[in-house]
Amino acid sequence: MRIRYLPETLVNQIAAGEVIERPAAALKELVENAIDAGATRIDIDLRDGGKSLIVVRDNGSGMNREELIASLDRHATSKLPGEDLLNIQHLGFRGEALASIAAVARVHIKTREQGGDAWEITAEAGRKADPIPSSHPAGTQVEVRDLFFATPARLKFMKSERAEYMAVKDMLSRLAMTRPDIAFTLTHDGQKSLNLPTVGNMQTRLASLLGKDFGDNAVAIEAMRENVTLSGYAGLPTYNRGTAQYQFLFINGRAVRDKLLTGCVRAAYADVLHRGRHPVLALFVNLPAEEVDVNVHPAKAEVRFRDPALVRGLIISGLQHALHREGFRSATSVADDTMRRFTTATPLPFTPRPASPAPSYRQYAFSAAPSQGSALAVSGLAEPDRVAALHADPFITPSARADIHESTAPEIQAHPLGAARAQIHENYIIAQTENGMVIIDQHAAHERLVYERFKAQVKENGIERQGLLTPEIIDLTESEASTLLDVKDTLDSLGLEIEPFGSGSIAVQSLPALLAGRADITKLIRELVDDLLEHDNKGALEEKINAILSRMACHGSVRSGRRLGVEEMNALLRQMEATPLSGQCNHGRPTYIALSLEEIEKLFGRR
Ligand code: ADP
Ligand code: MG
Repeated sequence: MRIRYLPETLVNQIAAGEVIERPAAALKELVENAIDAGATRIDIDLRDGGKSLIVVRDNGSGMNREELIASLDRHATSKLPGEDLLNIQHLGFRGEALASIAAVARVHIKTREQGGDAWEITAEAGRKADPIPSSHPAGTQVEVRDLFFATPARLKFMKSERAEYMAVKDMLSRLAMTRPDIAFTLTHDGQKSLNLPTVGNMQTRLASLLGKDFGDNAVAIEAMRENVTLSGYAGLPTYNRGTAQYQFLFINGRAVRDKLLTGCVRAAYADVLHRGRHPVLALFVNLPAEEVDVNVHPAKAEVRFRDPALVRGLIISGLQHALHREGFRSATSVADDTMRRFTTATPLPFTPRPASPAPSYRQYAFSAAPSQGSALAVSGLAEPDRVAALHADPFITPSARADIHESTAPEIQAHPLGAARAQIHENYIIAQTENGMVIIDQHAAHERLVYERFKAQVKENGIERQGLLTPEIIDLTESEASTLLDVKDTLDSLGLEIEPFGSGSIAVQSLPALLAGRADITKLIRELVDDLLEHDNKGALEEKINAILSRMACHGSVRSGRRLGVEEMNALLRQMEATPLSGQCNHGRPTYIALSLEEIEKLFGRR
């Protein structure tokens, strides 16, 4: 393939624009060129966050003398064989990156084609010198010094060295995610800051860029619709961040920041994440080149789809499907935190034991006579009345007391969430599983169940309602009342029937049956008003409905503070196992945490 000058029409089609806005943008262009040149190894050297020096060295195809000269000219490219801007097979195609960089900086390129001679060339502020023979291994090295020295106005917009460096590193990470088959290194001011060897699969590369935690807390995404495929890894909702910065989206191997895509991610997680929390994920969309226009943005960071609805549907359903499949799982990092908390717990203050010591734990366990033939599955743990004696031990404060329930049939333990053993602090259920234990937040868990039941009812025949014998009158301000009455029909369809009642008041006529007798109606209505005001009519109707359902679910769920019997607790666990997304509450907090026996044994130094 030879570099050629593009015809005028095509040149004009390619929108002019600023390609290079900061060192990270220059780096992106240079690395993309190396990738396009078929490199398997790309080494990057930076000084001062890239402000004074960026060097990108590759072992790709290299250039001959003529190509080297042309590479610095605007709109000269080897990557558009035809005249079709909708058939783009390379990362580059505009032929303006090197020219733009050379226009504002000092550029020095050394290159050698496989089996050819090495050449080097310099260009400064747009003036290029003649190439001279050089010595260089096969491949290309582009050195960019003093970016923007020729445009002092632009120079002023550069951020601190650290900020520019972080942007470069982020950019390189994005590029490296697309190509696990290429080795990358990044050296900053003489210090190696990234070293990514060639690896056989995406997962390994992602884990080295996003951390092992991500690997442990992500689900694989694999979906396809018509000729569009979606793949990648998506973090569990409980593994969330306060910024959307850790969302990496790629179209045909091109790192993009696209509103459509980020919107899809938000929609897919809307149900399981609090506003303001963001999932971590890396998603790769692949589709035929002619289905997507990448010539939208000079830095090629945005794209347009020929059929955005298709892509949108694929991403949302692909993500939701995977999250539902794993909905039962909550982040292992939570268990890790638990471990850390357990291990760093400060020792209890020591109080001397009374003169006649209670029997040691071991003796106690073995001397216990089985009561009612119920062999407790917790090995070595005693039956209830003995346990009560244990509670009398002054070492155990009353607030830490657990209500130990009798063992239930052993097969219950085989369920993923096991058999409920105790409820503590009127909110946490302790259950024994086959190979460990789980602690369940009963309020969070039940909230999720009610919410999912609401959604199922909405899908089927609508929410079951129950009329109030006497309407509940709620005083609001006039604008609050009108905010509510604006969505009267929506509320009505969700089983919450309201009527205006004089100025500033409303009368609640009926409630969803799931809330009847449970919810504090006044409080619910006030919180709904706040939600509605906060959402400020933004967002789709569906989002609004889900927000209302979520709020109602919170009011319809067992409060923390309610004592549950063992049957009730087990019923809750079984429902959780049967409910999609029950691993987290509506706000993305986990509903349960698990500790394996192995972890417990570790805590006790038995392993
Ligand atoms: P584009 O990548 O859009 O074609 P550039 O200005 O980035 O435009 O590069 C111009 C041309 O220079 C490329 O089409 C390619 O032929 C050549 N080139 C640039 N960098 C390299 C490189 N690292 N290895 C081989 N050829 C390169
Ligand atoms: Mg390029």
